[in-house]
Parts: sequence; structure tokens; C-alpha cells
Amino acid sequence: MNFSSFKLHPQIAAGVEALGYQIPTPIQKQAIPPVMEGRDVMGLAQTGTGKTAAFVLPILERLLPGARNKVRALIIAPTRELAEQIHTSINDLGRKTHLKSMTIYGGVSVNPQITKLRAGVDIVVACPGRLLDHINQKTINLASLEVLVLDEADRMFDMGFLPDIRRIIKQLPVKRQTLMFSATMADDIRKLAHEVLHDPVTVQVGHTAPANTVAHALYPVEQHLKTGLLMELLKHTDTESILIFTRTKHRAKRVGQQLEKAGYKAASLQGNLSQNKRQAALDGFRDGSYQILVATDIAARGIDVSSISHVINYDIPDTTDAYTHRIGRTGRAAKTGDAFTFVTREDEPLVRSIERVLGDKIERRTLKGFDYTKAAPARDAEFARPPRESQRRRTQPKPEQRGAQASHAGRPKTHSAQPQRGTNAPRGAAPASHPTGAARTFKPRTHRP
Ligand code: AMP
Repeated sequence: MNFSSFKLHPQIAAGVEALGYQIPTPIQKQAIPPVMEGRDVMGLAQTGTGKTAAFVLPILERLLPGARNKVRALIIAPTRELAEQIHTSINDLGRKTHLKSMTIYGGVSVNPQITKLRAGVDIVVACPGRLLDHINQKTINLASLEVLVLDEADRMFDMGFLPDIRRIIKQLPVKRQTLMFSATMADDIRKLAHEVLHDPVTVQVGHTAPANTVAHALYPVEQHLKTGLLMELLKHTDTESILIFTRTKHRAKRVGQQLEKAGYKAASLQGNLSQNKRQAALDGFRDGSYQILVATDIAARGIDVSSISHVINYDIPDTTDAYTHRIGRTGRAAKTGDAFTFVTREDEPLVRSIERVLGDKIERRTLKGFDYTKAAPARDAEFARPPRESQRRRTQPKPEQRGAQASHAGRPKTHSAQPQRGTNAPRGAAPASHPTGAARTFKPRTHRP
């Protein structure tokens, strides 16, 4: 089967050709025909399966004839990065159609969005919060809407967007086509599907297991040796772009800084960055100026860099679904990729659940020549981080007024874990629980060191 069997309009087929897609992916084969027939579709597919084109192509096909400069398609996505990525796909696939797409999300000025909406667009890709603001302010007119897409619905649940989504849907024309995509079919997704989809066709690929173009490996390691192991692994591995996941924003920032210090072209992406800095990190990673991006799950959602050769879980994710999502960033489409996960003894139960989902045991590896016996420092500075937001509000002035917070006492003395004086003042970093259950120490400081 190739794309010609969808009988796409030549202007849309030109976009497919320009991107070099030759064979539709399984989700595209299954979803494009019913979506083109106008049916509601529930798509169970993870990132990396080609699900974006599965809804973008039929939307372009539907919107090509008919009125212009009215919002006729609305795609709701959980994160700005995913929204930007979908918008890029629309522009790439629809390059010859002259249909206009725009993104709407928070954290950036609202005025340019209002200007674009006033000038007229055909497709809006939006995150729920800011979209709701526009609806409430009547700066967006959705009366002509024909197609609604809820992308990564499971993520939107995780991020607490469900009430916003329900409010948005109430404002949309009842007569419309609705498509919903999710990596999982948890009970709440099933419930929402029941509420918003009319007589849907369900299509499913890959269940919740990650794409099988990915090779998985576990690296058992003590918590305090992770950074050292990472450095050693990078030295001995042939890589293109690498995406590294940490559990907390603070750790993403710190590991990014340590990599930079060690001479790597690395950036970190975490929720505390301004929109401009996030965009610069993402653009730099996409165009190869940064080879390594260190990110938290939320910050990394939707990242699509086709040359990602390795995903490294510096910290194992909290759930098997999060593992699937992270790993979805490599081995995309026809490419293959490696997924390395650092695991401590405490992570074993989660490893077993991931293995159950994969249907296979994951290979355990030890890195030759790496000193796994090095003792932990007397006091592990890694966990001497600021208290949770609520605690800080009681004890401290505003985050911007504070200097560096993390105590440097007792840092491991390896080359890869040098203190980063004055640079690690996380704003609102959500600390992870201590994996060993040991008490964290924190001494509030109100002056710069
Ligand atoms: P997605 O799951 O939509 O994020 O897509 C994952 C990646 O696969 C993106 O880089 C797409 O450009 C690419 N892709 C989507 N469909 C195809 C296809 N039919 N052939 C080759 N690559 C594709």
C-alpha cells in the first residue's frame, strides 16, 4: 500500500512527497480512510507512530475546498512543543494548499495571537488553558468549526486539563467530526471518548508497547554514580542526538550544566525556562547545535527530532506509560534507536512492570572499565535541594530574590560532579522523593554565596 491509495488531492500529495513519506505507517493505513469518510475516530497510538499525519492529511483534504479564513479545524494538544510540532506538520504537508494554521498557548504574549485570529486562519493548534482564555474573551470564533482533534488525550488527563477540555467542548458546534488520540485507553479516556465521540471507529497500533525499532538496555547503578556513568557511556557510544530524561527540573538543569562543563554541546529543557529559552533549546537541538538535550517528562513532551539515536533515562520514569512516551522519541518511523535506562535497586518493581509491557526481559549491561565500587559521599548533595513550593512560601522570600540554593557540601569529588557554584538556583523545582528514603537536608539561605 502506498499513499496513492488514499487518493489525496495533488496539492496534498505534493506535501507527502516533499517529506519523503512513501509507505503509510500502520496508524495512517487504519485511520486515514475512516477520517476521510467523516467518521469519528478513537486512535490508540503512541508518539512516533505517524499519528500526526494520520489526522493532518484528512483535515487538509476536508478543508481544501470551502470557505477560507474561518477556524474550521481545532487541534488540542497538551504542550506547546507538541502544538508547535503539529503546526509544523500542517505547514509541511499542506505547503501547497495555502491553508493557514496557527498555534495558541500560554507563556507568550496574547496580542500576536489575537492579531492572527482577526486576520483569519483555517486551522488552530492549541493548548487548553490559553484557548479557553480566547473563548472567554471572545477573541476566537469557533462557530464554523468542522473538525476537533484531541491529541495525546491521556497526557491531557495526567496534566489536569480535563475540566478545561470539557468547558471548551461545550462551546463548539455539536455537528462536527471529532478525533481523539491517546497512547492508552484508561477508564477516564474511555469515559471521555464516550462523551465526545459519535459512533466512533477505533483504530489501534502497537498497544502501549514502545515501537519495536528501539533496542532497550538497563544499566544498574547506584544513585551517586549516575553522572559518572553517563559521562563514561557517552565516551564509549556512537551517537547522533541524545535525549536524556531526569525526574526533576533541578536535576535536568544540573546534568545539562555538567555535560556542558565536560565539553558536550548540551542544553536542558525544564518548565522553569522562559518561552524564549525553551524555544532556543529546542531549535538548537533540532538543528544539531546541541547534540544533547536534558529534559523532564513534561518539558520533553512532543519533542520530535528525527535524528534522536539515544534516549537515556538518567532516572527511570514513574510509570510504564511514561517509559513508552519517552522511548517514543527515538526509533521514529523507519529509524532505529537505543534506549538506556539507569536503574537503582529501588527501581526494580518498575523495571518488572516495563518488562511486562514489552513482553520481554530487558538486557542488563555493565560498562567495562567503570568503577562501580566508588563509595557515596558522606552527604549526597544531590538531594539537598529547596523545599516544596508551599514550604518555601512560608520560609523564604520570592524565588527571584534568592541566590543559589543547593548546598555544595559533600558533593562527590569525581570530575563529573563538580560543584556549579552560583548556577543552580532552581525556581519552583519539584524535588523527587529520595530514592533511598533517607531524609533530605535543607538549610534556607537568603543571601548569595
Ligand atoms: P508522529 O508519531 O506523528 O510524531 O510521527 C513520527 C515521525 O514519523 C515524524 O518524524 C514524522 O515526520 C515521521 N513520519 C510520519 N509518517 C511517516 C511515513 N509514512 N513515512 C516516514 N516517516 C513518517
